[in-house]
Formats: sequence, structure tokens, C-alpha cells
Amino acid sequence: MMRTKIWARRLFVLVLLAGAGLWAADYIRHHPEDMPWTALDLRDPVGVFTGQKLAALTGDGALCRTLLEDADIAYRALPAREAGDRCGYRDGVSLIVGRGIAHRPGEAALSCPVAAALAVWEREGIQPAAMRHFGQPVVAIDHLGTFACRRVNGSETGRWSEHATADAIDIAAFELADGSRISIVEDWAGPEPERAFLVEIRDRACGLFATVLSPDYNRAHADHFHLDQAARGRLGRSLCR
Ligand SMILES: [Zn+2]
Repeated sequence: MMRTKIWARRLFVLVLLAGAGLWAADYIRHHPEDMPWTALDLRDPVGVFTGQKLAALTGDGALCRTLLEDADIAYRALPAREAGDRCGYRDGVSLIVGRGIAHRPGEAALSCPVAAALAVWEREGIQPAAMRHFGQPVVAIDHLGTFACRRVNGSETGRWSEHATADAIDIAAFELADGSRISIVEDWAGPEPERAFLVEIRDRACGLFATVLSPDYNRAHADHFHLDQAARGRLGRSLCR
């Protein structure tokens, strides 16, 4: 009697494990974007390792540009720029905006990993949120700049900013199709649905950029989102506030 019970329990556990294995295999097949070992494809939905894979493109401009091309994200490769010892970029691109979201005041020089993350954020984060909250798409982003040869927070000493290598963008506002403007300085602590829209897209950016700083971080960011792809080591921890 006792023996039968033990065998029945063993069989039950084996069936359970086999079921879990089949479920896992099926999940992996349908969600390659969630696996750490799969190659990045910018057409995929955002997975749990997408941000780390985007940041890891730093230093591999050729691969990054191939991924943009595979995903039909139009770009212009920029000539290398040298500006002193610590400033400049080699693999800069600017996104060519057709019928998508315009970048104002003009074409911005971006490191390729920032450009790739920005394009995915616009498609997977900003536009779905705009449609849900306002029933219309965003047509333009107002940015405060990308490349600037300076240290963090403009200090005289200390760490160099990701802006010094065009590896960052500061975004101040979004314009909807009907012409209304949602700005971080006016609407971050403002009424709904503007506030919910800004919080939601900030959170979505956290899955795509190594660093996302909003007004929640400090007063220096009261009027913009700072997004960058700073190297954060092998574990790829992101800073999101
Ligand atoms: Zn910044």
C-alpha cells in the first residue's frame, strides 16, 4: 500500500515537471525577446532583456546600424566628431523622421544605441500610450539637445556626461496630432490624463535605456527626461527614477 503511494507521488511529480518543461519550451519559442541569449531584433516587442541588449550595442556601430536597417528605421550616419580629449563620437546617427515623430528643434546627433532605443520607445511606448490616453498620436518631440561637451550637471570637475559622446538625449515636451503640447515642466505634476501619460512613458523608457532621469530624480530634471545608454557593467543594472 505504502509503496503504491510513493510511486503515485513520484509519477505525479514527473508529470508536473514534464508539463512545466513543455510550457517553458513553448514560452521560449513565442517570446524570444524575453530570453537573455537571443539576438536583439528591433521589430520585436520589448522583452525583459531588451534594455541590456540595446546598451550592449555600444562600440558595435556596424551591428547597431544593421539592426536599424532590418527594422526599417531610417537614419543618416554622421561623420565622426572629435571635440577635445573626452568629447565626440564615432558611430553617431540621426533618425530620419518621415511620417513618424518629428524631432525639434532639428535633427539630433545620437549614439546609435540611443537612436535605436528612441525609435523603439516611440513605437512601443509613446504612441500606444498617446492613443490610450488621448486617442491620437504624438507628432513631435521637443528635445533640449543630445551632444554637449560637458561633465555631469555641467560641473567643473567630476564624471563626464553621456552627452559628451552624444550617448544621451534630453526631452522636454510632446506634441499631439491636434497641436496640444504636453510638457514635463507643466504637466508632470499636473492634471490627468497628461500626468499619467508622462509617468507611463517614463516607465516604458526604463526598459530600453540604461539611465532614465525624470523630475522624480532631482530638481535639475524638473523640465526634462534624460535618457542615456551609459555602460553599467555586466549585470546591466539600469537607473530609473
Ligand atoms: Zn541629459
